[in-house]
Amino acid sequence: MPGFELFGDLEKKEVNDVLENGVLMRYGFDGMRNGHWKAKELEKALENTFQVNHAQLVSSGTAAISVALAAAGVGAGDEVILPTFTFVASFEAVMMLGAIPILVDIDDTLTLSPQAVEKAITPKTKAIMVVHMCGSMANMDAHQNICSKNNLLLVEDACQAIGATYKGKVLGSLGDLGCFSFDFVKTITCGEGGAVITNNKDYYIHSDHYSDHGHDHVGNDRGAESHPFLGYNFRISELHAAVGLAQIKRLPEILKIQKKNYSILRDALSQIPEVTFRTVPDGGEENYSFLNFFLPDLEIALKVSEAFKNQGVDACFQYYNNNWHYIRKWDHLKDLKSLFPIPAEVKTGLEYLKTKEFPQSDHFIGRNISCLIKLSWTEEQVNERAKKMFEIIKSILLNSY
Ligand SMILES: *Cc1c(COP(=O)(O)O)cnc(C)c1O
Repeated sequence: MPGFELFGDLEKKEVNDVLENGVLMRYGFDGMRNGHWKAKELEKALENTFQVNHAQLVSSGTAAISVALAAAGVGAGDEVILPTFTFVASFEAVMMLGAIPILVDIDDTLTLSPQAVEKAITPKTKAIMVVHMCGSMANMDAHQNICSKNNLLLVEDACQAIGATYKGKVLGSLGDLGCFSFDFVKTITCGEGGAVITNNKDYYIHSDHYSDHGHDHVGNDRGAESHPFLGYNFRISELHAAVGLAQIKRLPEILKIQKKNYSILRDALSQIPEVTFRTVPDGGEENYSFLNFFLPDLEIALKVSEAFKNQGVDACFQYYNNNWHYIRKWDHLKDLKSLFPIPAEVKTGLEYLKTKEFPQSDHFIGRNISCLIKLSWTEEQVNERAKKMFEIIKSILLNSY
């Protein structure tokens, strides 16, 4: 990833189809659009690729999470359990609905810890949101058990794990609802875009209406549509969908290249006994978009990360001090810096963040380095990179003991 590394004629053709008839809206304009329904076609392609009954495109991954939760009835005052290591979008999407994000520890999968989830369940808990970070997954059997035992909704944020599988099923298709992002840096990109997938027909219909002002999309006369319930505008445009339609065709190729490049880097680092790798749950297969490994402690991890940067090993991330992805730097959430008043119930619900520590998350994120796997590397470049990474880590370890 990202998918834009492979842009070419396919993308241009799909976008040109849209520009030629000028219909940028995904609904209506039947007469003008010359048979082109890019969003509808992409939804069909997503249903086939992810082997689910329904896919609803929306304007972003963040929108997908809000739409998915709303479609299943999560709202004001409900608690949603999610991990400390994710993207800020996860708690934003929850708070937009007036719901309360309950952040809990991750484990050595770098995703939501089932034990931490169990401890955090209260009578207000409505949903568990696993976030499959950096191309791999949470233990879905464990989370499914917890959800069925406690009658909770299971939502998957699979924005970073397109194409990864668990026990033969594509991530995003295992929970009640799955969310994807097709933003500018994701494995499949539309520029901006996202999708909700589900096998639940009601959730799908709710997603369809809710993401377009509550319009029911019945009949051909748009103005005559009725509104079974309130909605907003989280639509994708035909132009964005057109890019995605080309990109989804490239997914098998993308996964193949990622796996090849990932394996070369991993084989090299496997030669170092002090380096260990994130746990992938039994029956899981990553999408190989990132290589995630652990070093013996935080200090060494920070040194390696610094040396990677200084010596030209780009696209490797150390998330301990990262503003976007890890709870330690989310003061705006802890201090509730909002432009407008936050409901009292949400304020109270977030009090825990002022004092709560996450030593288990710190333990895993502190020692982790996460390297993006690019599609455009030549074989020579990957081999050179593998050698460089090996040597940098070896020399830092040697100087640390
Ligand atoms: C990218 C991302 C999102 C949000 O997607 P956008 O399309 O950028 O809104 C949500 N969750 C995770 C884990 C992401 O990586």
